[in-house]
Amino acid sequence: MVKKSQCDKCTGLCCRYFALPIETPETKQDYDDIRWYLCHKDISVFVEDGDWYLNVKNVCRHLSPKDYRCKIYDKRPKICRDYKHKDCDYTEGEYDFELHFTSDKEMEEYIKIKFYNNVTEKQKAKKRKRKKSR
Ligand code: SF4
Ligand code: SF4
Repeated sequence: MVKKSQCDKCTGLCCRYFALPIETPETKQDYDDIRWYLCHKDISVFVEDGDWYLNVKNVCRHLSPKDYRCKIYDKRPKICRDYKHKDCDYTEGEYDFELHFTSDKEMEEYIKIKFYNNVTEKQKAKKRKRKKSR
C-alpha cells in the first residue's frame, strides 16, 4: 500500500486481483488456449504495451474485510512493498489496454474475425494466382 491517508479512503483495490504475463499468442491454438482461460470465472486477459496478461480477480486472504488493511503489513511480500504510487488503482485507475477480454465469448468473436480475415486473404491470394496463370 502507498500513502496511509490515501489508502484510508480505499477498500484495498490493489489487493483484490493479480495479473501474470503470458506468452503472446500466435497460432489459432494459442488463442483458443486463452479462450479456455476465459471460460473460468473472474478471469480476464488484457494487452498492454504489446504484452499479454492473465488477470485473476481474487481478493488476497490477508486483506481485512473490516477496515481493508493488510493483516500482515510488516511481513507483506516484496511485490506489495514495491507497489508504486503511479500504479495505484485508486488514484491512477485509468487503464490503457490495447485489448481486454472478459469472457470466452469475446475471445471466440475475436478468433473468428482474426482468423476468418486471414482465411479470406489467403483465398483472395489464391484467386489472384489462378487469374494470373490463365
Ligand atoms: S489501490 Fe492505492 S489507495 Fe487503494 S489500497 Fe492500494 S495503494 Fe492504497
Ligand atoms: S499481502 Fe497485504 S498488501 Fe499484499 S496483497 Fe495481501 S493484503 Fe494487500
